[in-house]
Amino acid sequence: MNSKKLKQKGYIVILGLEVHAELSTKSKLFCGCTTTFGGAVNIQVCPVCSGMPGALPKLNRAVVEYAVKLGLALDCSITKYSKFDRKNYFYPDLPKAYQISQLYAPICRDGHMEIETDGQTKSIGILAQGGEII
Ligand SMILES: [Zn+2]
Repeated sequence: MNSKKLKQKGYIVILGLEVHAELSTKSKLFCGCTTTFGGAVNIQVCPVCSGMPGALPKLNRAVVEYAVKLGLALDCSITKYSKFDRKNYFYPDLPKAYQISQLYAPICRDGHMEIETDGQTKSIGILAQGGEII
């Protein structure tokens, strides 16, 4: 059934996408490890990014600057208070067993992006935008 038929029946189609982008920073989100491609294996890792107990993350300022720039480009509200949350869960290829993301207080929220489709301009809403590291 296409969207016109769904609309005639009183339904509204709402799709949500989680979009990830890799920023062109020189170091990772929470440590000074380089992000250069092509190095030897297990060289670009430290106690912070490998999730060793007691290792404390330090936020990469360049990431926040990129996030704010993207938020402004998407007409988002830029928060004055932001925080990261640790989500603990088991996954076979995630040995540290947690992910750091911005579930409750993202850097940017409530923006939009306009696209052209079928000769019409449509506004795509942006719910939240913030840093996440797996
Ligand atoms: Zn590291």
